[in-house]
Amino acid sequence: MARAEPTRVNARASETDAAECVAEIEPTLASLKARAETVAEIAANNAEEVDRDARFPKAALAAAQKQRLLGVMVPRELGGDGASLREVIDVCYRLAQGCSSTAMIFAMHQIMVACLLRHRRNTLWHADLLRRLCAEQLLLASSTTEGRSGGNVRSSEAPIERDGSRIKLERRATVISYGADADAIVTTARRSAEAPPSDQVLVAFVKRDYSLEPLVAWDTLGMRGTCSAGFTLKAAGASEQVLPDPYEKIHVQTMVPVAHLAWAGVWAGIAAGAVERARLFIRNAARQASGQLPPGAPHFTRATASLGTLRGLVATSLRRYEQISDDELSVASLEFQSTINLTKVEASELAVSTVMSALRACGLSGYRNDSQFTLGRHLRDVLSSPIMINNDRILANIGSASLMSAVPASFLD
Ligand SMILES: Cc1cc2nc3c(=O)[nH]c(=O)nc-3n(C[C@H](O)[C@H](O)[C@H](O)COP(=O)(O)OP(=O)(O)OC[C@H]3O[C@@H](n4cnc5c(N)ncnc54)[C@H](O)[C@@H]3O)c2cc1C
Repeated sequence: MARAEPTRVNARASETDAAECVAEIEPTLASLKARAETVAEIAANNAEEVDRDARFPKAALAAAQKQRLLGVMVPRELGGDGASLREVIDVCYRLAQGCSSTAMIFAMHQIMVACLLRHRRNTLWHADLLRRLCAEQLLLASSTTEGRSGGNVRSSEAPIERDGSRIKLERRATVISYGADADAIVTTARRSAEAPPSDQVLVAFVKRDYSLEPLVAWDTLGMRGTCSAGFTLKAAGASEQVLPDPYEKIHVQTMVPVAHLAWAGVWAGIAAGAVERARLFIRNAARQASGQLPPGAPHFTRATASLGTLRGLVATSLRRYEQISDDELSVASLEFQSTINLTKVEASELAVSTVMSALRACGLSGYRNDSQFTLGRHLRDVLSSPIMINNDRILANIGSASLMSAVPASFLD
């Protein structure tokens, strides 16, 4: 892992306070792994309270900023570390073992960073935003879910309204994770009032560009700390804030692959946290019974097996994406798009079943809220995975594509 560069501070007056605040912090020269572990420990210590109160994991995010993790994927010339997607996914996995919400917030932020990095081309506005992101450790939120079209990311209702070089957007953003705590929102929108819902753009607005009027609160079973409330987003800015690539391209090349891999990294981390708890439970029980394994032990074995399958699935899909990500045709191919979508479906289902097996291994001790082996939070959090872009929607969308690919007849193909 490359060493962190010295802090760069944007001199603009409106940004001075935040920039000075970050500049006081000496960037760590330790490896990304050690930086992530520092944050993971703080996240784990606060996870219970974050979940109970459904509050934003402030301490963990402050630690991530102090460790300069938010700009980790940004190239060094813009002030980041130039970390790879693989390294970012590893951070997601580590964080999720302690606090699912912190990990998911980190993942969602990095997905937006990946979109900006790849699809800004040479736009100065976005380069400046990325520079500020590194210097001030800005947190990016994302808005795709909207009004009636709900979870259909490839459809937008609200259009970009243009007036000369200025743009305006007003959308009913029914879910924006940590919207109230973010420094910028990256949102999909219909290209114009005349464009069909599928002709979309991706646009970045910084905090001074928008207001958020609460629409719906976030009182959920799990992932309570993501604070994914709904808002009416009213934003205005310069037309250069719209990314030059059409959203259709961004979706296929970056949004879908990076989101599904980073989310899967989070879900695998939640599952790993549950399996580790079950391991401690089984060892403890065996110690108290002169080495005799408790009756739930086979469920622990099952949990370790499905965690292994889940990790293997993520690793294989990640490797494939790394191999072809610069080849536009291969990334857009039916074969890869089906693979990456099915990775999301499979990873979410494996994560749920891994946590369920861990829970069954622990029995009542896992089921109780007041036990050191409780797995209630893990289970509630991981149950968000099949609905975070609903698996039913994904399976229905790729149904016809699946019919067109022949079933492999050999292992050597
Ligand atoms: C923890 C968390 C954080 C989130 N953060 C954000 C965020 O920051 N920004 C954001 O924009 N969104 C966010 N979302 C929302 C997310 O992106 C999806 O929009 C949402 O999870 C979809 O929920 P849904 O199942 O109700 O919606 P839909 O996908 O609209 O599905 C509704 C129902 O219809 C069914 N269904 C839908 N399509 C089909 C189909 N083709 N065939 C059969 N059945 C179908 C589904 O099974 C479901 O029962 C977040 C969600 C979660 C869980």
